[in-house]
Amino acid sequence: MTKHWDVVIVGGGLAGYVAALFLAKANVSVLLVEKGKRVGGRARTDVIKEHYFNLGPHALYKQGKAKPILDELGVMIQGNSPKLGGLLIEGDKDHIAPFSPIGIATTTFLNWRERKEWLAFMAKLPTIRLESIDDEETFQQWLMRNTTSRKVQSLVYALARLSTYCHAPEYVSAKVVVAHLKASTGGVLYLDGGWQSMIDQLHNQAVVAGVHIRTQAQVKQIVAEKDRLFTLTLANGEAITSKKVVYTANPKELPDMLQGETLEPTFFDRLRPVTGAALDVALTTLPNPKRLFALGTDQPLYYSVHSNYAKLSKTRESVVLHVFKYSHPDELIDRDEVKAELEQFLERVQPGWRSHLITRRCLPHITVNHRLPQVGDEKELTQLETSVSGLYLAGDWASPDSVLADAAVSSGKRVALEITEKER
Ligand SMILES: Cc1cc2nc3c(=O)[nH]c(=O)nc-3n(C[C@H](O)[C@H](O)[C@H](O)COP(=O)(O)OP(=O)(O)OC[C@H]3O[C@@H](n4cnc5c(N)ncnc54)[C@H](O)[C@@H]3O)c2cc1C
Repeated sequence: MTKHWDVVIVGGGLAGYVAALFLAKANVSVLLVEKGKRVGGRARTDVIKEHYFNLGPHALYKQGKAKPILDELGVMIQGNSPKLGGLLIEGDKDHIAPFSPIGIATTTFLNWRERKEWLAFMAKLPTIRLESIDDEETFQQWLMRNTTSRKVQSLVYALARLSTYCHAPEYVSAKVVVAHLKASTGGVLYLDGGWQSMIDQLHNQAVVAGVHIRTQAQVKQIVAEKDRLFTLTLANGEAITSKKVVYTANPKELPDMLQGETLEPTFFDRLRPVTGAALDVALTTLPNPKRLFALGTDQPLYYSVHSNYAKLSKTRESVVLHVFKYSHPDELIDRDEVKAELEQFLERVQPGWRSHLITRRCLPHITVNHRLPQVGDEKELTQLETSVSGLYLAGDWASPDSVLADAAVSSGKRVALEITEKER
């Protein structure tokens, strides 16, 4: 039996749900199909031994593009902001991070000249106009033009990794990274119950708004028929027809699904994901309770205790922390090696953590963002309808000027507005 829909959305992550909700509010009939048993995509949270584990460390930017859209949809965000501060780790030395006034005054990471340059950089950052940054400039080129001290540069690279997960300054667009650095000055939120709390609210609202949601429904093929309809074939052979399709899943898989249609934007060939390795850990207690945050400066490593600011345990006064390694796109990942590296970093920050272990999970090679935002990509994303009329894009890879949840949520809203505008 076939059923007709105005719009079928492929993928039940943040982008898919936001698009579905805005479309349903405009009285468009929407079917959302998700291949997994559960919805949420990379924003889902797993409950393991009574602890809420996001897929690696997840922080919502208070001044990013997602937050106002989630507010507009009435999604209640509960959680707290981690305090500025913590440690910088360089080689075998620990330094107080210069992220707070006291940190700037006391850090041993910077000398007085470098401290002055760091302060000037941080004061200038909020005033930088993104339009003034050349579209063709990489983040590395931009940073070399704007700073002289190598110590300050290594600090800005660490902050850029933290706010974008991109560890390839020689490839990434300066405009996108600076936009995220600017947003990061407004702070982040760690969410009570993990990011699933947002997904659950989006899901419930979508059901109430009349969106039909199907899980375990993997789209295998999308055919644009001559009569301006699409036929989507699912893995079980079922066919679904719709007037329009919004594709929010892995962009690398789209060209094959379309079987020979020529697809623009043309960046599909050169797409590379942003990846990393995550170690998610629950402990009964912290060996050193004062150590809540650390960033590597010469190594792309991260550590943060999320449960200090968000409720991440069902019953207990225990600790949930995340360790992360940002991967370079040209790097070959050895899963055992990276796992050992994450555990060693945790041992460095919290010696003896293993004796307090409740549970841990290692994700040695996970896609954080489906598109490394390279220079030149932006101009291909000025509209979300592809060269196949009626086929639209959304997701963390489909935003010209952002990545991560900001890109997923903003492209979800934008695609819905583009579709309703066109229909009108
Ligand atoms: C380790 C890690 C840390 C992160 N930290 C942060 C952070 O701190 N801040 C931040 O803003 N963002 C962070 N992110 C990124 C954020 O989670 C993602 O950008 C966002 O969740 C992506 O949403 P999406 O809807 O674009 O894609 P997804 O969540 O991937 O949703 C796409 C959905 O499509 C489904 N699908 C795939 N193929 C098919 C098919 N053929 N048919 C049907 N369904 C299909 C998938 O199962 C998936 O559910 C992090 C991600 C990771 C992995």
